[in-house]
Amino acid sequence: MNTAPVIPGIPATIPVLIAGGGPVGLSLAALLAHYGISSLVVEADPSWCEGSRAICVSRRSQEILGWVGADRSVVAKGLPWVGGRSYFRGTEVLHFEMPSEPSERFAPMVNIQQYYIEQYAHAAALRAGGAPVLWSTRLRSVTPRASGVRAGLQMPDGSTRTLHADWLVACDGGRSTVREQLGLQFDGMQYEGRYVIVDIEQDTRRTVERLAWFDPPSNPGSTILMHRQPDNIWRIDYQVADHEDPAEAVKPENVLPRVRAHLDMIGETAPWRPLWISMYNAKCLTLGSYRSGRVLFAGDAAHLVPIFGVRGLNSGLDDAGNLAWKLALVLTGQAGDALLDSYSSERLLAARENIAFGAKSTEFMAPPHHGFALLREAALRLATASPALRALINPRQTSPIEYSGSPLNQADCGAAFTGGARAGTPAPEARLRAERGLLHMTSLFGSGFTALYFSGGARRPPCLQDPRMERGSGAAALRLLRVAPSGEADEHTVVDELGQARQRYDAVEGTLYLIRPDGYVLCRWRDIAQTPAQIGPALERALRGTP
Ligand SMILES: Cc1cc2nc3c(=O)[nH]c(=O)nc-3n(C[C@H](O)[C@H](O)[C@H](O)COP(=O)(O)OP(=O)(O)OC[C@H]3O[C@@H](n4cnc5c(N)ncnc54)[C@H](O)[C@@H]3O)c2cc1C
Repeated sequence: MNTAPVIPGIPATIPVLIAGGGPVGLSLAALLAHYGISSLVVEADPSWCEGSRAICVSRRSQEILGWVGADRSVVAKGLPWVGGRSYFRGTEVLHFEMPSEPSERFAPMVNIQQYYIEQYAHAAALRAGGAPVLWSTRLRSVTPRASGVRAGLQMPDGSTRTLHADWLVACDGGRSTVREQLGLQFDGMQYEGRYVIVDIEQDTRRTVERLAWFDPPSNPGSTILMHRQPDNIWRIDYQVADHEDPAEAVKPENVLPRVRAHLDMIGETAPWRPLWISMYNAKCLTLGSYRSGRVLFAGDAAHLVPIFGVRGLNSGLDDAGNLAWKLALVLTGQAGDALLDSYSSERLLAARENIAFGAKSTEFMAPPHHGFALLREAALRLATASPALRALINPRQTSPIEYSGSPLNQADCGAAFTGGARAGTPAPEARLRAERGLLHMTSLFGSGFTALYFSGGARRPPCLQDPRMERGSGAAALRLLRVAPSGEADEHTVVDELGQARQRYDAVEGTLYLIRPDGYVLCRWRDIAQTPAQIGPALERALRGTP
């Protein structure tokens, strides 16, 4: 094959081509670079996205961004929040809080504009030494080959170039060219109810929380959501009546009076100016598989979920976190490509759950017909009358999804656990003391496999007596950490002085957990003194990607 570069500085054959430099494509590029895999991102636009899209970034997403050091910028710029309030007509009917505690690493949610996430992910990819982005370059054609894909690119000057990529990851959003080129179609449905999305700039000191009004006096019959964002920006989403013409509904002369009425109603009287107006309607769509030969799908190219419950960008980052280590292992010949089928099955299961939750939220936020509107009104009236019934209107925000039935999950070994985290669930958070000070368990993940050995005595379990079991770098690295109840921390020991880890992992002396690079539990042994932990075979099974 001719490997002469057709694009200056880019080899004619590359390991991974990422179509789309949105939040998912850029995060995937950063994660792959972190594992030493170079990729090329092609992005049709000249830079990060403009306007108002995702704003609520979950704790899990912050953890994933943390694997490549992008969490610090998110935390520095973003506005953290833990709960919200809902009002029905003039009355507060709900004040909810998401699980959180002072020792937590991240707030359950941070408000930050999507373009900042893209910018920070891009910076992380560059820091990790990889992932050039070809801006203003559009992927036009995809020809699958046994050994990869041939990709036709339209360059910024209008010329065309062809590249060979061993793997193509489609992160090119809801209108994916890759999907269309392969003749693949979404399954699912789209809701009729429309929301106007407005960003305004206004100075405010209001607490950061999710605010929702149903049938407010400022805009009778409508539903309004408000979120504070960095840079003194409010995001205001409101529901448009069915009979309204969508083109008319986004005209400033129709939008601004509604916004003004609402700001007046809630007492936000500082001067303001509009920055962005667009229209949104909810979709629940997914591909039936996220792998087609050497092509993988992630983010909105793979699935579209409603914005209510904020599962779009957040689930796309989870796709990237799940895919990066598997692709790195396959590309370095350390795993068979069946491991990538588990990417598809795990994330498809997640998308289906996200769609189910998102559909419920949409039916509440934008009732698709009169029956749902009546049910919602009944729930809101009940919540007004009886605080005990307020759970009925509690919006379920995104949370990490259990990969039940995944081919990677391995059965518990030895005596039964009564709790903790079973295979296929995210390894729980805990605050620990390490050699260099306090750290959180989740900050230990994202760089290969981790064996957590709960022991107040022995430093190493017998199965890991041979230090060669601890492997070097990259996604296949294995790191052993002793979780001691007390004593001194050192390079290989963290101290669980609050007892959080023991309790959340249901650990006793001798318990061992094997954690995947994406922070999910692979398998666990209740007491390895009684059931010798076969770490090597467990890892091999995982790398094969089959049960
Ligand atoms: C109003 C609104 C509010 C939202 N709020 C939230 C929220 O609070 N939290 C949340 O989690 N999610 C939210 N979402 C969803 C979130 O914005 C998306 O899920 C997220 O953008 C998906 O990221 P992505 O990288 O998969 O796709 P995109 O962001 O769509 O990026 C795809 C990229 O691919 C590029 N591209 C497309 N075709 C080609 C091509 N042929 N060649 C090269 N490049 C191409 C595009 O230019 C784009 O940059 C919201 C969405 C909307 C519309």
